[in-house]
Amino acid sequence: MNKDDMPGYCSERALGYGRQKSAIRELFEYGKKIASEQGSEQVFDFSIGNPSVPPPCQVEDAFRSLLDNEPPLVLHSYTSAPGDPRVRQAIAEGLNRNYGTSYQANNLYLTCGAAAALSSTFRALTLAGTENEILAIAPYFPEYRCFVEGHGATLTSVHSCLPNLSLPLEAIESAITSSTRAVIINSPNNPSGKLYERAELQALGAILENKSRELGHPIFIVSDEPYRELVYDGKRTPFIPSIYRNTIVCYSYSKALSLPGERIGYVLVPTELDQWQDIYDAIAGAARALGYVCAPSLIQRVVGLCVDVKPDMTVYDLNRRLLYDGLTEAGYSCVKPQGAFYLFVEAPGGDAEAFSEFAKTRYNLLLVPSDSFGFPGYLRISYCVSTERIRSSLPLFEECKRNYLNRSV
Ligand code: PLP
Repeated sequence: MNKDDMPGYCSERALGYGRQKSAIRELFEYGKKIASEQGSEQVFDFSIGNPSVPPPCQVEDAFRSLLDNEPPLVLHSYTSAPGDPRVRQAIAEGLNRNYGTSYQANNLYLTCGAAAALSSTFRALTLAGTENEILAIAPYFPEYRCFVEGHGATLTSVHSCLPNLSLPLEAIESAITSSTRAVIINSPNNPSGKLYERAELQALGAILENKSRELGHPIFIVSDEPYRELVYDGKRTPFIPSIYRNTIVCYSYSKALSLPGERIGYVLVPTELDQWQDIYDAIAGAARALGYVCAPSLIQRVVGLCVDVKPDMTVYDLNRRLLYDGLTEAGYSCVKPQGAFYLFVEAPGGDAEAFSEFAKTRYNLLLVPSDSFGFPGYLRISYCVSTERIRSSLPLFEECKRNYLNRSV
């Protein structure tokens, strides 16, 4: 038998996820390779969302104090599966201070970042023996596809409204079917930096309430909030559970506290949710089935001591202004970010993959094409880099655009 004709011994879906690298990761790996061959100053890597600001000093202090004062056997032991109850209570009280809510430890399930929070939530909401759809608003974080389809549900999507990427309310209403379980909201948004206004979220809430009544089952909002605290110009991210009752929040400390490798976040399941205890227990069961015994214990304790710590946005804001102004001046058309640390830019000439490839091979300028965000024709620029890097890249952006548009094909 020819090797290619042999039956496979592993899941085709898992094989696909393992083999198909994300566009972001591919560019990131490419950047590391070029940096090791030519020197890091030769690469302009705007591919990945790794915070470039160190964790706030309170995080370092919390690590030190725990390591110095707590018995190692306690510090590094398994915690209860949902997380240390004292930590969950501290997080709940932080939320209550901020949003006037009355959450308790048992509304929270600590996870390995927002990724595990989302994956567990989608699994919990996927019903057996029927179609399940999760609706995303494009442009969206590409990993949603894997988190949703990996559990047998389908990711559907609608396009945000141009020019400012506002919520496409009519399209959402038309896209909801009897199989829709949830709508994912990610604000501030990766890849665009868009922050939704309270009024548009209220309008969305009204639509979902009507649709839930009409269909006879709740349509949940899954609010993916790794960038909740990363906002500019004195804005505040509207807290969606206070706007729409059936909201499950998937939060992460990766970006706000610059801790992406420590893998810590949570799912918030408010008591107001329809069948909240069942949903909470199903998320716990999903996390168990995915093999998450408990979130890493040391970092649980650290975030428990830092619940009121906010990120310093000075450098991101400076980068945002320099890049937005510089690229706009160079003739790029950009969506002005109101949060997170991404700039979403129309690809000159319209073909984002072609422009990204040109920028990469000619200039070592690593920009993520937006095709995998479900919104072709744009480039995502992660400006969580040093300000010096932004300044030195601006002439390259200008030259790259000019030469790309003048190239002979
Ligand atoms: N959701 C969005 C929109 C993200 O941008 C990311 C990471 O970049 C995640 C979820 C996953 O974050 P975490 O590191 O907490 O798993």
